Amino acid sequence: MSAKQVKRVGVIGGGQLAAMMASAAKKLGIELAVQTPNARDPAALVANQTIFAALDDVAATAKLANLCDVITFENEFINLDALITLAQKGVCFRPKLEVLAPILDKYHQRCYLRDLGLPVPKFIVWEKNTPESPNTKISASKQPLGFPVVMKARRHGYDGQGTLIIKQASDLESNWQRWGYPSVLLEEFIPFERELAVIAARFNSGEIVIYPIVETQQENQVCRRVLVPIFLEPQVKGEIEAIARTLLESLKVVGLFAIELFLTREGKVIVNEIAPRTHNSGHFSIDACFTSQFEMHLRAICEYPIGNPALNCAGAVMVNLLGFEYSQDDYQKKRQQLAEIPGAHVHWYGKAESRPGRKLGHVTVLLFDNEENLRAQAEALALRCEEIWYG
Ligand code: ADP
Repeated sequence: MSAKQVKRVGVIGGGQLAAMMASAAKKLGIELAVQTPNARDPAALVANQTIFAALDDVAATAKLANLCDVITFENEFINLDALITLAQKGVCFRPKLEVLAPILDKYHQRCYLRDLGLPVPKFIVWEKNTPESPNTKISASKQPLGFPVVMKARRHGYDGQGTLIIKQASDLESNWQRWGYPSVLLEEFIPFERELAVIAARFNSGEIVIYPIVETQQENQVCRRVLVPIFLEPQVKGEIEAIARTLLESLKVVGLFAIELFLTREGKVIVNEIAPRTHNSGHFSIDACFTSQFEMHLRAICEYPIGNPALNCAGAVMVNLLGFEYSQDDYQKKRQQLAEIPGAHVHWYGKAESRPGRKLGHVTVLLFDNEENLRAQAEALALRCEEIWYG
């Protein structure tokens, strides 16, 4: 495959990530087709073509593949085994399915990262009838990680759904029972000082580009804000960039990945999670970088020349606009107020309805003042955006 051949990219998924990829595709002269269930899904409104189907509908993906030169992903809710049959028939997936295989299940992902020698929290698989947990009654208090402990669904978690911080054995038992005793990942609770993230892309040539490392701020396990640039000790920065390189090289990724990390008070870096796709922590790049994460991903999977991940401004703060009520309001007035902030870029996903916690849009405010008080400015702007949005 060469750049000249790629006219159309297919995306399994039609949420805001695919919608933002559609804007980047237009810029590169590439068409985008998406597979998504509903006509009001964000990407269905902006893609060149939409196949309306569930994400795990492999017959629909076969149709998508007939329209496209390469297929990519916007989330992890895929049926890998079914897609392998398409790959065997010659469908080009980027990243390749072999790259996704060790990543999709959070327990497998932890094992993969540990085996690569990357720093991860201590973890175990927690399931019925294993030597570690021979039965549900005795095991909760005897699990070896102590408390608090973090219980995670092995698949299909997102925005903190499927992640629980558990303080004591009785809560572990009751929550595990509430989930129906599935096999889960249990891991050590990391009392982190900050959460960081880094976006990196690997090209077919083997070249790797790394975006500026960001700080992400979560509330109730949901990302609320992203700040960039941030002050980091040079060895911490080097360590994080080395983690990104090791991971992308070992998997021979073609495309863009996000890596979420914990930074402890002692300056220790620990990998939390890998997302094999564009990510919320990289949305700032649309307005604040020369090449956005969406364009970079397309450049990598279509074998276009490499882009420039550097900031085009002194810094930026990205604030997620989360739903705070059940409503069909399009919040035009609030969006207008946000847009009036100097340097603000408002991105609205056009979802049919608002629900508490749902990501409805985001705003990125660019900072051009390269002074020491950049961080204070970014925090003040985040507060201002949140005051306008949440009232
Ligand atoms: P999701 O896949 O839904 O984003 P994550 O595994 O990234 O879920 O967890 C969401 C948030 O929960 C993290 O950003 C962090 O704030 C908190 N968290 C997750 N794992 C741990 C851990 N081992 N120790 C402390 N906090 C954690």
